[in-house]
Amino acid sequence: MATTRAARPRRPPDPAAGPCKMAGTMPVLPAKLPNTGTTIFTVMSALAAEHGAVNLGQGFPDFGADPALLQAVSAAMAAGSNQYPPMTGVPALRQAVSAKLNALYGSTYDADRDITITAGGTQGLFTALQCCVGAGDEVIIIEPAYDSYDPAIRLAGAVPVGVPMTSDYRLDWSAVRAAITPRTRALVLNTPHNPSGRIATGEDLRELERLAEQHDLFIISDEVYEHMVFDGSVHESVARFPRLRERSLLVSSFGKTFHVTGWKVGFVAAPPALSAAFRRLHQYTVFTVHTPTQHALANYLADPAPWQGLSGFYQAKRDAFRASIAATPLRLLPCEGTYFQTVDYSAVSDLPELEFAQWLTTEIGVAAIPLSVFYQQPQERRHVRFCFAKRDETLAEAAKRLAKLR
Ligand code: PMP
Ligand code: GLN
Repeated sequence: MATTRAARPRRPPDPAAGPCKMAGTMPVLPAKLPNTGTTIFTVMSALAAEHGAVNLGQGFPDFGADPALLQAVSAAMAAGSNQYPPMTGVPALRQAVSAKLNALYGSTYDADRDITITAGGTQGLFTALQCCVGAGDEVIIIEPAYDSYDPAIRLAGAVPVGVPMTSDYRLDWSAVRAAITPRTRALVLNTPHNPSGRIATGEDLRELERLAEQHDLFIISDEVYEHMVFDGSVHESVARFPRLRERSLLVSSFGKTFHVTGWKVGFVAAPPALSAAFRRLHQYTVFTVHTPTQHALANYLADPAPWQGLSGFYQAKRDAFRASIAATPLRLLPCEGTYFQTVDYSAVSDLPELEFAQWLTTEIGVAAIPLSVFYQQPQERRHVRFCFAKRDETLAEAAKRLAKLR
């Protein structure tokens, strides 16, 4: 006997949505991320464009990538690399990634089994979270937290638990410990850290290793700024710590490392069982990413100079940018990595952070990102973030405008 499906609630088409040619009703949309607005990066870039502001808000370089890398993509296309590559990514790229990781961090990732090429860091993070957490699980995110973690956790049916950093943006392990419950299933680490520009220390990673083992946690480690650490520091990757590595999905992105944020190509490195779980989801959401770009990146990675020189390149920009705004009433906070400089503007204004960032964009002509948006319960500390991945002229123009601040 045929069964009848339970009636779904239906609603008439919304007349405000414009002319609708469909007859009848439409299904009610399920409530996915009902409280989520448009990402701050899109909002601030649009405001900057509208007001002709120097855009130090959204994080992307305003200079070109190495022409050799660009030519390698065209060459791969001309050579016929235009069909689906393997689901896990072009083998030569996976080999280049595993060789780099293993040489840098002393890890043992296998190119075939443990590396998956992704559509940027965002997809790597999203799929990693979907594969290791589910309904009712809690996931610790360190606040201020990059804005894609919270929605990815919620879409997995899990609960993001925000744990604040210390007041000077260090990892606060006693606060993390206090937030762990029997339902805690994973923690998202981000080092170098966006937006604060802080980096995790070896002791931080050892503490994380202890906690993860004690409470049986997965670690999703967002290391997209792995090649931007300053003043002689080293990047402390989860890949350096064998017992941490075996429960971690390490996420990185070529967009940051090679000045091509719009390419959206990255990778996830994880031990066999986690990689297998990751690939089960990846194959039906993305399957694989742009073939010629993968070939180009594989060739380009043969020379370590571009990524080895990245920290020095951005450290020089950081230093020049800091020097250029040192005389303003903005107080420079420490910047140990990433391409973000955070400042305290309390000597300039009492406005809340979002309003101040909007005012700075429209009245002073420099766009910034308020840190308050990176918290579940917005914090108001009078801190905003500038991106210094810009041409020297762009940074000089921004400094000229910021010099008007009193
Ligand atoms: N994580 C962090 C901390 C980021 O700042 C970004 C973005 N830029 C991403 C992930 C996403 O990387 P992608 O652009 O490769 O998706
Ligand atoms: N990650 C970049 C930033 O922090 C922005 C990426 C995006 O626009 N989604 O500025």
